[in-house]
Amino acid sequence: MTEHSASNLLTLPILSEVGLQTYPLSTLYVLATPIGNVCDISLRALHVLSLVDAVACEDTRNTAHLLHRYGISKPLLAAHQHNEHEAAEKIVARLQAGERIALVSDAGTPGVSDPGARIVDAVLKAGLRALPLPGPSAAITALSVSGLLNDQFHFVGFLPSKARQRETILASLANVPATLVLYEAPHRIVETVDALVSAYGPTRQIVIARELTKLFETVHRCLLGDAPEWLAADAMRQKGEFVILIESSPAATDDGAEGDRILKILLAELSVKQAASLAAQISSQKKNALYDRALVLKALQDAEN
Ligand code: SAM
Repeated sequence: MTEHSASNLLTLPILSEVGLQTYPLSTLYVLATPIGNVCDISLRALHVLSLVDAVACEDTRNTAHLLHRYGISKPLLAAHQHNEHEAAEKIVARLQAGERIALVSDAGTPGVSDPGARIVDAVLKAGLRALPLPGPSAAITALSVSGLLNDQFHFVGFLPSKARQRETILASLANVPATLVLYEAPHRIVETVDALVSAYGPTRQIVIARELTKLFETVHRCLLGDAPEWLAADAMRQKGEFVILIESSPAATDDGAEGDRILKILLAELSVKQAASLAAQISSQKKNALYDRALVLKALQDAEN
């Protein structure tokens, strides 16, 4: 460790509390690292990084750089998506020999759209422990500033790059009663937002959270139908790393009031069939259900007149 090492940070009186937790041997420490600003790492994570015998990481150069910034020097083991099985075996053997090993990914929480789950699975199957060192994850960071009111969220991660597969998945998620959370890369952001508009129509809210915790951090919330124009207005808005949040399906969260409201307006001018068909396009609710409801509303309207 250098003069400005993590151990210096760990001399503040409050930090004696890192010791309230035990750090057993023969344990894998699954440790979250920053998603942008290098300072977003927990003091306990630094304590554990100082303590472990080795750090298993997605990219040894990235992790070496992070550890160097905190004055920590540790042996590194490569554990990426192409060697996860092999890495898991090596890690299990080292844990069985009594070591402590930290598992990190390039950014954020391991196992969240990142390697890690196979290694944790192998560790647990070998009867060993995996303990979490919580910290940043882009999904949760974006949700925290979305202001979207649904408490539930559905983590989708990256959509497939092939259009047909992407459409199928988006269609299957249309009525999920939760905010949808997607990850996206800059070269596909425009295409993906277009696909979202096609799948869910223009009226749901979208949050485009870009470069979180970095210099050009942007969080933009608008109607899905307005998002393509917003992205196109400035090429910078298409650069960087993205989390996309989509407001939950009105059909799934609505107790029927919104469907009724739309149907009543349309039924004043149109047939039951036409009203149900248009209401389905406006609300993303199922046409058959709207048709049945429209028959009831029409009968009530006729009875009133
Ligand atoms: N394990 C990470 C986590 O816990 O969020 C995710 C890793 S995944 C390979 C990388 C993707 O996460 C990026 O393509 C982007 O969609 C999202 N992401 C990571 N950092 C981000 C940031 N600073 N701002 C916005 N999105 C980010």
